[in-house]
Amino acid sequence: MNEFYERRKFLVKELKERGIIKSKVVEQSFLSVPREKFVWTDTIEEAYFDVPLPLGHTGQTISAPHMVAMMLEELDLTKGLQVLEIGTGSGYNAALMAHIITDAKRFEGGKIITIERVHELVQFAKRNLDKTSYSKYVEVIEGDGSIGWPPYSEKEYYDRIIITAATPKFPKILVKQLKVNGIILAPIGSMFYQVLTKGTKTENGQIRIKKDVECMFVPLVGENGYHANEIL
Ligand code: SAM
Repeated sequence: MNEFYERRKFLVKELKERGIIKSKVVEQSFLSVPREKFVWTDTIEEAYFDVPLPLGHTGQTISAPHMVAMMLEELDLTKGLQVLEIGTGSGYNAALMAHIITDAKRFEGGKIITIERVHELVQFAKRNLDKTSYSKYVEVIEGDGSIGWPPYSEKEYYDRIIITAATPKFPKILVKQLKVNGIILAPIGSMFYQVLTKGTKTENGQIRIKKDVECMFVPLVGENGYHANEIL
């Protein structure tokens, strides 16, 4: 066993004791996906600290493990789901989700589409997902995820949509792209402070809201998020 695996096991144990990791599937994904392969090289020694880490000089971050675990628990992922993530960052959260929704033994399962607006991070995430063999299940797309994927389409494609950046509201187009009974999750609020918010789509296309913990994410920058000239 390598040293990073020992640190990973310790972090998982701690997150379970704090009641943050609750389900077997989230525990298994955290034990399996090597976070040290998704952080920037100069922070590799901090890979298993429960803190967000900077992704080089891009101004973006890989979220703290406890926040990632909370989001995964809220998403209630199962095998075979179609998932859209807005904000690929390092690719770590996409890899964790891929671990849960695919069945590697049978080479079948769901699919993750993840969108990132920063070119350097698109390249970084693709490399990380290749190195860890999750690229089979994850498609990384460069662009503004706030307009959905395919852009502006109003068809219901996804069982789950996760926005890993602060947004003033759930963008309407993303709600359209969510299937009935599907879940959309995002930190909703101002640019500096948000509440992790879960929406479940009802038969009549409305969203039933459940508010969770307070959090702080980097902003969703795009047509249906914050505009670039608003970012301080
Ligand atoms: N999920 C990531 C991970 O596992 O490393 C962390 C995401 S980081 C907190 C938020 C990311 O959202 C940043 O990489 C940022 O560039 C990206 N982002 C912000 N606005 C976006 C948009 N409109 N479309 C796509 N990505 C966006």
